[in-house]
Amino acid sequence: MVNFSTWFSKYFSPYMINKATINQAPYSFDLSVIGLYVCLPLGNYLVNIDKEMSSNFTLLDEYIEKCKPNIWISTPSFMKMCMYDQQFLELTRSSIEEIIFDGEVLTKDLAKDLLVWYKNAKLINAYGPTEATVAISACEITAEMLMPDQELPIGYLIDDGEIEIKQDYVSELGDVVGELYISSHSVARGYYNSSSETEKVFSTDTCGLRRYNTGDLVYMRDGLLYYVGRKDFQIKLNGYRIEVNDIEANLQKLDYISSNCVVPVKENNKVIFLCAFVVLCDGQKENDLKMSIRIKHDLAHKLPAYMVPKKIIFMDELPLNINGKIDRKMLLEGINSDHK
Ligand code: AMP
Repeated sequence: MVNFSTWFSKYFSPYMINKATINQAPYSFDLSVIGLYVCLPLGNYLVNIDKEMSSNFTLLDEYIEKCKPNIWISTPSFMKMCMYDQQFLELTRSSIEEIIFDGEVLTKDLAKDLLVWYKNAKLINAYGPTEATVAISACEITAEMLMPDQELPIGYLIDDGEIEIKQDYVSELGDVVGELYISSHSVARGYYNSSSETEKVFSTDTCGLRRYNTGDLVYMRDGLLYYVGRKDFQIKLNGYRIEVNDIEANLQKLDYISSNCVVPVKENNKVIFLCAFVVLCDGQKENDLKMSIRIKHDLAHKLPAYMVPKKIIFMDELPLNINGKIDRKMLLEGINSDHK
């Protein structure tokens, strides 16, 4: 925690003194460490969003009006949900100076909306698994990074970090994509009371530093890391290897889609089809069948046919779990019970 906090405060919060920090993460979620061990020691005060406020805009807005947050810490999905509320946007527009995201993919759409709305705010994308303490890479996301066909980076590596990217494949642009192994003082000793699970993913590198296999597929370009997806979201369907995140990124590029999540539906442990949960932008709602045909048609112009989800389900919003991440498990359970 000291290793993480020292690095993070050095690069990403040098001027954050005497500011109000909003923390969305419950204390059981390691993202809360940023509020507690980076922002508080710098002399800021910390305000937490509780479960009730997370699901009630009126309560949240009353709270925001009182505390006028300068620093915002949450998952991207939680911020996205708040941005549906115009009052929230008005209340926070002039006060927010820094937004720190961690825990899940930050889409370009969201980054763009934030940089337009919070003109003077710094936007930080941090990446890392709990096993390596909150984040092992981070960087500021700037307007120049929003160019078409450019992915958003997950940042520069933590100061003491050493990584290995175990090649899985080489992308069309020549990037070596593979599973990320991280060595750092931030890496945990292992899982509590579970040596067999620990042995599967933790080891020691040649310099004696603890090493963790993140299970995330990444590549590195010009010193910046880029996230491709979870290795276990890399699925085989009819013999083709598919990255679920790739489909999501392409769905997100359709200008009438506000957010989406793709889940593989399995039978006897084998993927049988892909299902996309889609939230449309305001004013785009029309007949579901017509809309799914349109989405499949538009997606087929960007992706090979085998990557186009067979089923599309429209939702008003995507469910978030207690940590504020998109609740894939709940979506999958819903579709599995429908399927049966
Ligand atoms: P958890 O340990 O539950 O916080 O989940 C960690 C996982 O969330 C990582 O292994 C990644 O798969 C994902 N993750 C965390 N931060 C990011 C990020 N900035 N972009 C994309 N995925 C992320």
